[in-house]
Amino acid sequence: MKKSLFFTIALLFGFVFIFSSIPIEAQAKSTFVTIGTGGVTGVYYVVGGAIGKIVNQKKDIYNLRVTVESTGGSVFNVNAVMAGDLEFGVVQSDRQFQAVKGQKEWEALGPQKDLRAICSFHPESVVLVAGDDTGIEKFADLKGKHVNIGNPGSGQRGNSIDAFEACGINWEKDLRAEGLKADESAKMLNDGRIDAFFYTVGHPNGSIKEATSGGRKVHFVPIEGKCIDGLIAKYPYYAKAYIPIKHYAMARNKEDSPTFAVKATFCTSAKVSDDVVYAITKAIFDNLEELKGLHPAFEMLKKEEMLQALSAPIHPGALKYYKEVGLIK
Ligand code: GLU
Repeated sequence: MKKSLFFTIALLFGFVFIFSSIPIEAQAKSTFVTIGTGGVTGVYYVVGGAIGKIVNQKKDIYNLRVTVESTGGSVFNVNAVMAGDLEFGVVQSDRQFQAVKGQKEWEALGPQKDLRAICSFHPESVVLVAGDDTGIEKFADLKGKHVNIGNPGSGQRGNSIDAFEACGINWEKDLRAEGLKADESAKMLNDGRIDAFFYTVGHPNGSIKEATSGGRKVHFVPIEGKCIDGLIAKYPYYAKAYIPIKHYAMARNKEDSPTFAVKATFCTSAKVSDDVVYAITKAIFDNLEELKGLHPAFEMLKKEEMLQALSAPIHPGALKYYKEVGLIK
């Protein structure tokens, strides 16, 4: 009796030891972090997913577990990273600049002093898609139309408002502006419930493909002219760009459509530890070839260029990696 009790207790201890030792070990090894992205049909979501895939597959090397969250976009991500709700966020370069300087959306809040840059990714152009039957052929034709200018929290909303202001159009009075999420735009346009929508995004993009290949014939509206040239000259984060038509064979346009562009960047907070930021930076750069294979928008990425378009100070964890590999002297 005594003997069997002894064995039962020993067995019990054995189980407790084996099972409790697994989670404790895993916990000690991996830090859980979340990346804020954008709508599920955007490129940010793919960027986050690609980083997550690489890091989670090699969690023994990087000691990180990445979760990816679909969010409202750039502005949401900056604010969530600053609030400590997310460790990382994909953010348009113009938004990073404005947050650091306390401009536009951050005018009331002031400079976001703890915002830190890690790197930049693909270029994103401001896309304006309109139904062929709407009569919207140039930017000024948006007057009186029903347009999704982007949800609050998105990057495109600021870009479309900048373009309206530069071209002397009062977006609150001169048109019927909607603040819908990018995921909803293509269907709304196809169903005839809006005339046009804006989306600042990398290419090729699923939402734009959906919009251009639906039942309603659509086209890209050129965003160009003196007012847009003035806008690009005024702000350091805007550059002239074209929407590569090769990705959207079903759109009416036959040539690349002119517009302006920014870059997608990767941000964090000064409060996130150097070790965590070092690990994620290393994961991105050491596996860049694999990352490039995960979306055509990444194909053109070059390590040196990934340190451009950053206006927040580079996080010390990322800096350590860049110095180690000679990307920064
Ligand atoms: N540029 C968009 C934004 O900041 C998101 C684009 C994407 O999800 O790829 O809201």
